[in-house]
Amino acid sequence: EAAIALLQERIRDVPGHPNPDVVFKDITPLLADPVAFGQLVDLLADVCVRLGATKIVGVEARGFILGAPVAVRTGVGFVPARKAGKLPGPTLSRPYDLAYGSGVMELKDDALAAHDRVLVIDDVLASGGTAEAVICLIRSTGATVAGLAVLLELGFLDGRARLEQALAGAAVHTL
Ligand code: 5GP
Repeated sequence: EAAIALLQERIRDVPGHPNPDVVFKDITPLLADPVAFGQLVDLLADVCVRLGATKIVGVEARGFILGAPVAVRTGVGFVPARKAGKLPGPTLSRPYDLAYGSGVMELKDDALAAHDRVLVIDDVLASGGTAEAVICLIRSTGATVAGLAVLLELGFLDGRARLEQALAGAAVHTL
């Protein structure tokens, strides 16, 4: 449809960033276009409403940019999932593998309650390592993961397969 075509037009391939083997999907042209950004927020808000989410967890850093306006639009709370050491404690942490090395994702330990239905939002699903860590953190609070919504998915990396177990039946919604 027209909205998706516009989003696609506003994503730029940047070969060699952040290392020579990667073609980075740069979403900054999309963010700079208020029509495209507005349509992206509308589409993500539709997913949030359809799933009956009570909280949005945005993944540092571009998941903050996309998730926060969706939370405001849909009237649900926003919770940041951050890289280690950024959130004031107490926090829950979970290590994950990166292409080279590893990272740690954190959530405030009181950010979610057992009755919450959580929509996780990020810009790109690549290997799935980041999303898997965030989903496991959310589930460790007793909250339900209602789904993962991303703008785009690098299908050749098969992040979906990696997430299958963590998602426990919840779906990946890729625009
Ligand atoms: P994964 O853990 O799935 O391998 O990587 C996903 C995380 O890295 C996401 O938080 C995403 O923002 C970032 N990421 C990985 N590749 C790209 C890319 O090509 N473009 C953008 N914008 N983000 C990426």
